[in-house]
Amino acid sequence: MYKDHFISVILLAGGQGKRLESLIPKQFLSLGGKLLVLYSYEFFDSLSFIDEIIIVCDPDYRHHFKGRKKISFALPGKERQDSLFSALKKVDDDSDYVCIHDAARPFLEKIVVEKVIEAGICFQAAAVGIPEKNTLKIVDDHHFVTKTLPRKDLFSIQTPQVIKTSLLQEIAKKPSIPRVTDDVALLEENHFPVKIVLGSEKNFKITTSFDWLIANTLVSS
Ligand code: C5P
Repeated sequence: MYKDHFISVILLAGGQGKRLESLIPKQFLSLGGKLLVLYSYEFFDSLSFIDEIIIVCDPDYRHHFKGRKKISFALPGKERQDSLFSALKKVDDDSDYVCIHDAARPFLEKIVVEKVIEAGICFQAAAVGIPEKNTLKIVDDHHFVTKTLPRKDLFSIQTPQVIKTSLLQEIAKKPSIPRVTDDVALLEENHFPVKIVLGSEKNFKITTSFDWLIANTLVSS
């Protein structure tokens, strides 16, 4: 069903990767001989139902992207959300849905992308997630627990996140936009329902040096 719609991928690769303490942002480091960002870029470039790819990255890195599909570049913003809005301005006029993905998640599977796009088309907003396996607690400034969250209700949210383009554009025009750490949260703030579809543990985000170690093991196995 998604083949009848114009799908724009927004690939977020504009972060500084501060948590890995590397001079080069992590998405432009080599993972098993290939730049981390190219895993998701080449993957989306190979999918027949994707119509364009907008890459948010520092202009110095643009030369790395050579694919078959229409490609546009956007400048990174201060926070992830600013990068998203920067990319949104570059989306094709015909775009029906944006499929937003973290460049730091290299191990994406086609079935997961298909499921989240289908849910995005059905419900206007969808994200990939997996049931949370840890118990999560809210703590105060001194790290004393203030609340324990019921684990059975918790999902750990990943990307891709798929949102109807016109809806996101409408939200981006609002005079005051809440600061959020993922994309569909912008819709939750505006009381739109968001559907979660089941992802996979393999689709983890490389954030720490331990994650990097796991990713290296996966690509060399
Ligand atoms: O910071 P976080 O881990 O949530 O970043 C997720 C993705 O968003 C990464 O791929 C990162 O490169 C991207 N990002 C961005 N612009 C920022 C911050 C993060 O494109 N200002």
